[in-house]
Amino acid sequence: MGLKNKRLAIVVQNIHVPFIFEEAEAMGINVTFFHHQKEVNLNHLKGVQKFIPIDLFHHPDKAVDIVKSEHERNPFDGIMTFYEPALEFVARLAEELRLPGLATSVIENCRNKNNMRGMLKKNGLNVPHFKEYENEVDVTNFSFEYPVVVKPSNGFASQGVTRANTKKELIESIEKVRKVNTEDLGQFTGNKTSIVIEQFIDGPEFAIETFSIQEEVRVLSIGYKGDCKGPFFEESIYIAPAQLEENVMESISQEASKAVRALGIVDGPAHVELRLDSAGKPYVIEIGARIGGSGISHYIVKASTGINYMELAFKYVLGVQDCDAYNNEKKIHKVAGNYIIPVQGHGIVEGFEGIDSVRADMEVNRVLMFMAKGTEVLPYPHFSGYPGFILTTHESYSDCERYYTYLDNNVKVIYRNEVNV
Ligand code: ADP
Ligand code: CA
Ligand code: CA
Ligand code: CA
Ligand code: CA
Repeated sequence: MGLKNKRLAIVVQNIHVPFIFEEAEAMGINVTFFHHQKEVNLNHLKGVQKFIPIDLFHHPDKAVDIVKSEHERNPFDGIMTFYEPALEFVARLAEELRLPGLATSVIENCRNKNNMRGMLKKNGLNVPHFKEYENEVDVTNFSFEYPVVVKPSNGFASQGVTRANTKKELIESIEKVRKVNTEDLGQFTGNKTSIVIEQFIDGPEFAIETFSIQEEVRVLSIGYKGDCKGPFFEESIYIAPAQLEENVMESISQEASKAVRALGIVDGPAHVELRLDSAGKPYVIEIGARIGGSGISHYIVKASTGINYMELAFKYVLGVQDCDAYNNEKKIHKVAGNYIIPVQGHGIVEGFEGIDSVRADMEVNRVLMFMAKGTEVLPYPHFSGYPGFILTTHESYSDCERYYTYLDNNVKVIYRNEVNV
């Protein structure tokens, strides 16, 4: 039994990251795309049979009705999203429509950083000191060692995530996070305004892409994600496979798999973010119960190993049993990267320098650009979106590093003027 002609509902996918649509088309899947109603230029999307607008964050009940009534007319075999703030919505619908998916409670725990930390701690994983504050934050008796990280309990895309080295910085950070919580995140999080404060894990960061089948967790890839020291945590690079000693790779794999199990991600994909502390001990930062980066993680896994991550995810949500899913051994051994163009400041985007020549480079597979001319970019910790992704493949890790140095020096965002905040 294959995927051909299966009916899949995709909910609010980033329309500039095409992998989900392209893979669905290649496998003959019949896609209905419930997109953000403000998006109008969708003609470029391959493989979508039907477009239905929804306003998920302003009118969630209406959005539920729209999906349900479409399902009554033309039943879906599965429903999915890679968009972090839409995960709970999709999980609830899957449960109600009796489609494959993780329990809503599992998704809720992954979406809330305090719950997630609690679950990890209860299951014996390495967890930094952490504490959640609901409304009033009283730090007079705050006893954690500095530095610490302050973040929204239900945030995403590093919005508001801020490092503080002293009590004075902590108080300032809390103010900033409060502001991001109400001004930027409110519409996505149902105005949950709590924050989490935890110890800063000072060491390199990795992304681990996993796939679970009936509680068995398989690590598909471990990639290097930089060693950002803050105070803000703009996404920068992703290179896989990371260059690691066998024993370090093993300890990262173990910790990530244990964490995925602890959170109850018994089936399907998970994107784990993890840091090593100065002693090399692995700490999970967080887990998303989805393919990471709106589908970028699929690119990374497929380009570096040959494993079709998206196909595994489709089979799971569409209820296609596949005893061979794990005979999906690595077929290729390349280095794959996602270079995230840094915002390099703030202001009104006028254009980009160097992008056209990059597109023509041999090692570049795709350039995905997200910011139109005229976009207003605010300084971090506000998040105005990513300028663009440059997806590459290389024969070796050092080739990739060399190419990134070239990109650092040659790709520039041009701003017209400064924004006042
Ligand atoms: P989000 O859901 O917004 O991505 P994260 O918890 O993943 O929030 O934080 C974003 C980034 O901030 C992480 O990728 C990591 O680089 C950094 N970060 C968050 N918490 C910590 C921590 N305790 N120690 C070190 N870095 C952290
Ligand atoms: Ca997240
Ligand atoms: Ca994250
Ligand atoms: Ca990150
Ligand atoms: Ca090319």
